Amino acid sequence: MIYLDHAATTKTAPEVVEAMLPYLTEHYGNPGALNSSGFRGKKALNEARRQIAAAINAKPQEIYFTAGGTESDNWALKAAAESCREQGRHIITTKIEHHAVLHTCRYLEENGYEITYLDVDGEGRLDPQVVRAAIRPDTVLISVMLANNEIGTIEPVEEIGAIARQKGICFHTDAVQALGQIPVDVETLKADLLSASAHKLNGPKGVGMLYIREGIPIVPFVHGGAQEQNRRAGTENVPGIVGFGAAVQRACGRLSDKIRKEQGLRDYLIREIETRIPDCRLNGPRDRRLPGNVNFSFPFIRGEAIVISLDMQGICASSGSACTAGSQDPSHVLLAIGLSEEEAFGSVRLTLSEENTKEELDRAVAALKQITARLREMSPAYENYKKEKKLQREGRKENWAERCDTGC
Ligand SMILES: *Cc1c(COP(=O)(O)O)cnc(C)c1O
Repeated sequence: MIYLDHAATTKTAPEVVEAMLPYLTEHYGNPGALNSSGFRGKKALNEARRQIAAAINAKPQEIYFTAGGTESDNWALKAAAESCREQGRHIITTKIEHHAVLHTCRYLEENGYEITYLDVDGEGRLDPQVVRAAIRPDTVLISVMLANNEIGTIEPVEEIGAIARQKGICFHTDAVQALGQIPVDVETLKADLLSASAHKLNGPKGVGMLYIREGIPIVPFVHGGAQEQNRRAGTENVPGIVGFGAAVQRACGRLSDKIRKEQGLRDYLIREIETRIPDCRLNGPRDRRLPGNVNFSFPFIRGEAIVISLDMQGICASSGSACTAGSQDPSHVLLAIGLSEEEAFGSVRLTLSEENTKEELDRAVAALKQITARLREMSPAYENYKKEKKLQREGRKENWAERCDTGC
């Protein structure tokens, strides 16, 4: 199997599993208990907290463990909104956030908050001045992702964070795709709240964290016991959290090496697709892009059909994001960067890790070339498009796009 879906999830690294195991088999005591088994768990929690805090330049007491990126995003938005409801009810975000943010915003809209969803440019980049212009006296929260999960755009979060700080507005960033992929520093980003998830960086599934800057008023999300400084109740997922710490240590300890390798593979894959497959379009930027992200549109065919065909050849990729797969809607991210529905439906995301090889990528490109050619042979719209292109080359001025719109 060739696995090219690392933005959806990653393999739990063997050294991470090894770090976790003793907390499943031996030191399984409750970290809240007054016995030595519990103390071992408590110590391990503190060590993971320290590892993660160090990786993002935070203090250990600013790290709150959750059940994943989705919970962290929910908590950050709902709690920031509720904590500031007396100051105002206006929230600013973007059109390309993960659904964990967008659907939480929708929920808040139904509960008396007003949300501004900002546009991004053709590469998915948000202009910080657009954020500045959207700020109102009643704005209480700005939430902008650090890196996009579909097209890999790295947002200018440092500048946006600086604007939020200057205006005294709470600033949240979803760093789920960024942590372990690019440097993440809560001080340079001026983030007050930051979400991350273990399974996107070779940690286990179902564990994440919310960074809450000291002094930021955030109400608890899960009520119950006194865990996580009374802010997130429930017996801690000790093995998961230990695995999260180990995964962060593993990825962030040698980040520049990892980035260099992944970027090399990414640019190789982009070049190969562009030179070998006709009529394709790279979605997202060429630089300021996540080192492992590749996303292409192959108009006139369905991304899902490509992904299923790739899978039959042992290659795991995805169309859109994992969370929207199966839905009938085209990707909100691709529509936001100006793609037509036709182009958005024809997209395939290939996300790499440093462990992928050029040989694997060669095999994936060969498969893609064959699959897209076969699917396009069955696509009357593509035949029309090719005919029009030929006519155009011959000097005729016919508008194929218009014809295609009705033909597709
Ligand atoms: C995966 C992802 C999430 C959700 O994280 P889970 O741990 O899977 O709940 C949130 N935001 C982004 C950008 C993601 O890529």
